[in-house]
Amino acid sequence: MRPQRASFTIELRGHPTTNEKMTIGVLALQGDFDAHRRRLEELGAEVVLVKKPEQLDAIDGLIIPGGESGTFLNLLGEEGFEKLKQFVRLKPTFGTCAGAILLATEVENPRQPGLGAIDIRIRRNAYGRQLDSSIREGQLLQSSLNEKSSPLEMVFIRAPKIEHVGDAVEVIATEGRNSVPVAVRQGRAMAATFHPELSDDTRIHQAFLDLIETCGSDTPVRRL
Ligand code: GLN
Repeated sequence: MRPQRASFTIELRGHPTTNEKMTIGVLALQGDFDAHRRRLEELGAEVVLVKKPEQLDAIDGLIIPGGESGTFLNLLGEEGFEKLKQFVRLKPTFGTCAGAILLATEVENPRQPGLGAIDIRIRRNAYGRQLDSSIREGQLLQSSLNEKSSPLEMVFIRAPKIEHVGDAVEVIATEGRNSVPVAVRQGRAMAATFHPELSDDTRIHQAFLDLIETCGSDTPVRRL
């Protein structure tokens, strides 16, 4: 993802008016971006596949899909990483699996840089080879129906584990006897260690679209 121009400025699209469709970007450098595209379109959003940094200027929110976080870092390069870092501070972003790793403040196994959008310590490939991939039932703690918690199918693929959450982080979903946090939110950023795009349940993507509705609205077009 090499910027076409040397500048690091980011000119953000203002929030869409009620008649305008939201445009959501899906980072399409590698990984399973197409399943996210289909899910967002199913929910009525306009989707662009983001392959170049300047495309970040024209979207209302971004999904960073699963894949391999080290490869993402390589493909982004230093400049793409910096531009993305600015983006996630200002616009709603949802990272799944490798995307969640990218959004973290601290990454282990091995240590690697994070965008620092969500105050979590996350451990890559934390379930080991035995539990390489699995489908489990976890708990969604919040839903648009304001239920306290409800079951949610979760597809884990070489998943990371959120080992520590900072005070400002809200846990959206948990899994297992120890209620390990598997989906979290802080401000405009959301992360899940599983793959909601691979289940039929649309609630997690809907929660992200709702976040854009509420958090995106106070973001004027601005230059850094
Ligand atoms: N194991 C991958 C990583 O550490 C993440 C796997 C995934 O995105 N499904 O980046």
